[in-house]
Amino acid sequence: MCMAVFKKCECGTRTVQFHLRDNVLSPEVITRLFCPDCPGDSVFDMKSMVNDNGWIIEYDMVLATMQIMQGRMISLEMISPEYLFDQGYACWLEMYPGEKADIQDERQRIIALKKQDQQRYLQEMIGWNINRLAELKTKGWRKAQAA
Ligand SMILES: [Zn+2]
Repeated sequence: MCMAVFKKCECGTRTVQFHLRDNVLSPEVITRLFCPDCPGDSVFDMKSMVNDNGWIIEYDMVLATMQIMQGRMISLEMISPEYLFDQGYACWLEMYPGEKADIQDERQRIIALKKQDQQRYLQEMIGWNINRLAELKTKGWRKAQAA
C-alpha cells in the first residue's frame, strides 16, 4: 500500500500527489515543490533538486540517503535527486502534474464507447494510450522517458 502524499508548491496555486515507491522514503523527504509559475528566486541546486519540464522538486538528500541505504545494497554515489525520481522513490503519481484533469474529457469519451462497441473501445483506448505516451515523451516529461 502506498500512502497518498500531497504537496503544495511554494506559490500555493498547485497541489500535486506524489508516489513513494514501497514507502521507502517518508513524505518529509520532499522538502519543497516549485511549479512553473512559482517565483524563480531560488537557485537550482543539482545536489538536492530535480527538474521535470519546469517543475522542480527539492529533496532532503541526507534523510533520503539514510532511508534508502537502510537494508539495501546500494552505493552512496548512485543516490541523487534524479535517482529518487526516476526509480519512483519520490515522483509524481501521474505522468506529470495535472495529467488526470487534462485527460478526463477524452478518457470519458472513450469509456463511453465501451457499452456500444467493445472492440472499438479497446482499439481506441490502446491507440490513445500509445499516442499520449509518445506525446509526453516528445514534450520531455521524465516519467514518459522511462515508460
Ligand atoms: Zn507554484
